[in-house]
This record gives sequence, structure tokens and C-alpha cells, in this order.
Amino acid sequence: MPIAGSEIVKMLPGKRPCKDCGFPTCFAFAMKLASGGTTVDKCPYLSDETKDKLLDLLAPPIKLVTVGSGESAVKIGNEEVIYRHEKTFVHSPGITLLVSDKEDKAKIEEKIKKLKELQFPWVGVNLKADLLALHYESGDKSKFLDLVKKVYDSTDLGIVLISEDVDTLFAARDICADRHPLIYPITKENIDAAIPKIKENLTPVGLRGGSVEELVPLTTKLKYAGIEELVLDPGSKNLVEAIRDQTFIRKAALKQGFKPLGYPTVAFPCFMAKDEALKEMLVGSTFINKWASIIVFSDFNKYSLLPLLVQRLNIYTDPRFPMAVEEKYYEVGEPDESSPVLVTSNWALTYFLVSSAVEATKVPAYICVKDAEGLGVLTAWAAGKFGGDSVGTFIKKCGIEDKVKHRKLVIPGKVARIKGELEDALDLKWEIIIGPRETTGIGAFLPEFTKQLKE
Ligand code: SF4
Repeated sequence: MPIAGSEIVKMLPGKRPCKDCGFPTCFAFAMKLASGGTTVDKCPYLSDETKDKLLDLLAPPIKLVTVGSGESAVKIGNEEVIYRHEKTFVHSPGITLLVSDKEDKAKIEEKIKKLKELQFPWVGVNLKADLLALHYESGDKSKFLDLVKKVYDSTDLGIVLISEDVDTLFAARDICADRHPLIYPITKENIDAAIPKIKENLTPVGLRGGSVEELVPLTTKLKYAGIEELVLDPGSKNLVEAIRDQTFIRKAALKQGFKPLGYPTVAFPCFMAKDEALKEMLVGSTFINKWASIIVFSDFNKYSLLPLLVQRLNIYTDPRFPMAVEEKYYEVGEPDESSPVLVTSNWALTYFLVSSAVEATKVPAYICVKDAEGLGVLTAWAAGKFGGDSVGTFIKKCGIEDKVKHRKLVIPGKVARIKGELEDALDLKWEIIIGPRETTGIGAFLPEFTKQLKE
């Protein structure tokens, strides 16, 4: 539970508003600290004990854990709310594909390829699965280690290592430790033997309990040993138990501030709905809504994966902000100095529709996307964010004037009324062309306009 500024201020020196922290009073510093706007170390007069206490109180109720490294790293946890409509969910769950060392060579190759290649461009973002879970089942240790080495050498993917045999688990961890793999499962049976080995090379640890209650002494023991990147599996055997357990863990961490359960969770639709592909996807889909941070599937194809990825995108998109793309000019195809220039707003859907329509004409073009706080063109104009003045300022500074030798700018037909103001803002150096009102009109408009442009 986040601590209030009024509570923090009681722990500060108080008597000496020296302003050394950059704030006029201790109270102002406390308020900023509570909202995450500054850090504890800015006040040099806190005792070590107070500092540690504050750091503990200010820590996010669900610990941030990173599985994988570099660009393939998957960050999970750090959530602040139980329901998405209260504010937003922060780190979307890692969709994970299970590979068993019992599967034949061709199947393993196919799965690795699938994880690398199944990607879907979607309204300005690239949707894809995230992690490979490598499962030791064969009983042949060297076969499993070969599989780990193969994945480590041939991909940069984040890895989850699953082995009931602790020695094999740590031998596999040592092969890919710099990839920051999640090692699973650590249980009440193996935890004492595992702690020294975990500490040799710290990576995230997946804890499996027979129940939620059983996880508490395990997380406490690991925290005491200085091991804090933990992921919880309450051992739920079916969907009903899983929803109950996930709900319990989430509420205990966020509503009660119960630190021993303040960690992200892992769920295994692959084991809960074995050999029932559709059921497995439906169970996985429930976990996207109900708080699992790593969701492991036995297999998927493009038809079953895409709906999950779109669902995840929708649930983990911040509802307070429209989806937007970066303000700049974009190239469609390979435009040159005589290619057409269009301008639009930066709502992701607007950009996606315009760029798709331009792409379909096969006419290389520049699309200048102006920041309108993620609003569509007409709404942005009505809100004063897509007026002639501001569009003109953007066109001047975005660099498009260096890319084309002509000075003809196509604006959306819906905002034809900004033409005069835009011409003035561009010092009458550009001719403003009124484009189609809808993107569906681009197909007929753009080839003809380009022909005129080139003539
Ligand atoms: Fe108060 Fe510390 Fe800031 Fe000084 S540096 S004003 S003691 S919070």
C-alpha cells in the first residue's frame, strides 16, 4: 500500500527546513516523495534506519521482475491497481511457448522458429509472443542442456527453465545466466539446497507452492537471503482454483500491503488444459485479464496467438491516453524529392489507416504526422490541436522541406477550413491541396495527384 506524504513527513528531520533536498520544506519533500517525484537520498540528514524504512514503505506493492536481457527483456510486476479501470495496468504478461526436451528435433525447430517469426504489425505496434520455456522431461540431462545451449546460441529470446531436478536446473541456468532466465520450480522441498546455488548467479526465481499459504514462508526465506526477483505459482490445478488464487495474491499485495505476496505470478494453461488446444487458449485468455504475469502455452499458431495478443494489447493499454504514434514524417515505400506529402494527426488508428491506404496505392509518399495528443483529425481540430498555425509550425520543423523539391502539401478534406491559416503559417511558400475527406478516397486521389506532381 503506498504511504501518504503526511506519514512520511513524520519520519523526516522536520526541525531544519534547510532546503538541501531542493524543496522549500520537509513537508514539500515528503509530498513529492510519496508521489514518486523524488528519491529518498535527496535528504542528506536521514539515518540509515529511516532511509531503509522509507525505501521499504515506498517500494511498489508488486515487485518489478525482469526475465531476459537486452531488447528481448520482459518486465513484469510493478502493478498498482486491482482493476484496469482504476488507473492502468503497467507491464503486460509475457506470452510463453513451452518446449519439452522430449519433443522431436523437427518440432523443437518449428517452435523456436514460430516464436521468432510469428509477429503482427498492429496499429503502429508489433505484436508477438515473448519467452521460451524449456522443460526438462526426458530424464537425459545432457539432452536438456543441449537444448538450452541451442536456444541460447541461436536466439536472443528470454528463457524460462523448468526442471524438477535441481542440479539440472542450475546447470542449465549456468549456460544462459547472462540472459537472466527464470528458474522454476523452487519449492519447500528444495529451497534450502537451492538458496546457495541461486546466490552464485542471481536470476529470477519461480516459486511453486501447494497453495497460496505455502508460498509465504518461501518468499520470506528468499527475501531474508537477499533474493528478491521472485515469481509466484500457487499450484492451482484448474481455472476455478487459479482465479481464486490469483485474486487472493493480488488483493493481499495491493489492498493489504502484504509484502510476502507482493510478487508477479506465473500460470500454466499448458498443464491445466493438456491436449485441449481451444480450452488452453481460453484458460490463457482468462489469465491475461486475471493478473498472471507469465502465461505458458504448450503450442499456438497464428490463428490462436493473434487474438491473445490483441486482447493483451487492449487490457494493457493505458485507458487514460489514446494510442498515439510519434510526431515526425514517415516514409511509405521509397519516396524521392518529387513524391507527395500528406499531413495527418497522430492517433494511432488514423496513422495506420492513412499509411495502409497510401501503401495500397503503391505510390511512395511522405506522411507527416503531427502530435495532436492522440486525437483523430477532426476531433483534434475541434480541440485546437490541429489548427493551421500549429500544423504550419510542425511542417517547418519536421525536416520535410529538405526531402522534397516541390511545395505541395495534402491536408485531410475534413479540415479544409485550415487551408488559409496554414498557407499563412507557411509564409505562402507551400500550396495547400485539399485531400479526400475519408482515407477510402486516397486510392483514387493519390495516383492522379502524383501524376500531376511529376508533370
Ligand atoms: Fe527537510 Fe531533509 Fe529537505 Fe532539509 S533536506 S528540508 S531536512 S527533507
